[in-house]
Amino acid sequence: MQAVWRWLWDANHAVTKDDRKPLMQAFRNVLYATTEVAAEACYEDLIQSAEEYPNFLLYVQGLWERRESWCIAWRNIASMRGHHTNNYAEVTVRLFKDNVLTRCKAYNAVAIIDFIVSVMESFYRNRLQCFANGRVTMHHLLMEKLQARSKYITKKSDMRVVTSEEGTVYLVPSEDNRQLMYEVDAALGVCSCPSGMSGSCCKHQIAVFKWFNESLPNVPPVTDAARYTAARLALGDDAPSAQFYSSMTATDEPTSTQLVSVHVLPSSTQTLTAGECPCAAKFNTDTHHHTVFTGGGSSSRHFIGRSSH
Ligand SMILES: [Zn+2]
Repeated sequence: MQAVWRWLWDANHAVTKDDRKPLMQAFRNVLYATTEVAAEACYEDLIQSAEEYPNFLLYVQGLWERRESWCIAWRNIASMRGHHTNNYAEVTVRLFKDNVLTRCKAYNAVAIIDFIVSVMESFYRNRLQCFANGRVTMHHLLMEKLQARSKYITKKSDMRVVTSEEGTVYLVPSEDNRQLMYEVDAALGVCSCPSGMSGSCCKHQIAVFKWFNESLPNVPPVTDAARYTAARLALGDDAPSAQFYSSMTATDEPTSTQLVSVHVLPSSTQTLTAGECPCAAKFNTDTHHHTVFTGGGSSSRHFIGRSSH
């Protein structure tokens, strides 16, 4: 894609400025077409729109000959789960460069090893702790969004369960076309819809999670157990007990997506002084803010903002 863009911008190829974008768009359509038939149709369009530029035609024809290696229609196989680039590798290298090496270059080998074992370790420990302490709201927001999208499934019988020797598969109807059933494999965490094929969590998987209480590998980690696991990974045996990470809300339903935890203290606790907050023990006092509202009832309520928990 970038190579084509560079080709179009190369002054030697004499493509006028106004034509670059439509040509790029036409090429994009070929690249992202999901079926071979659609890709061929898009390719015909591209050829037509590129008639003025015989050099571009030649270039594109050359690319088309090896379309199996770049066109999504020929690459969309389940085993790749849509990872057309190595996303994990890319993001890890970026984190390493930005956060661990802070974009500095002039390290010798010893310094690099030192950075890897000290800075990188503390960076990942901090990240895990942030997550364990519930300061990352991203997963909750994603969960909320997907739950809203899966609302069209109103009862368990909307879906079908198929059990075979290879495991259980759930058939979930598509939102637009109820006759079309997508296959959700709960063990692998894949769905046969376009978004699920790319390895992301889709509304069909959330529906299975919600109605069948299946633990799917792709569902956003919003449960207490997930937070405790992250804490164990970060702190080892020093991690507080699993109970410490349990939800502050009365319900321990894993799908609870509240951003602000409301903790109702026993009615005997009318006032709180600094350091006496039941959850303060494990927190650094200068990062732990709380506002205590007393009165207006027999119990005092303790609100913890999303930056603290
Ligand atoms: Zn799906």
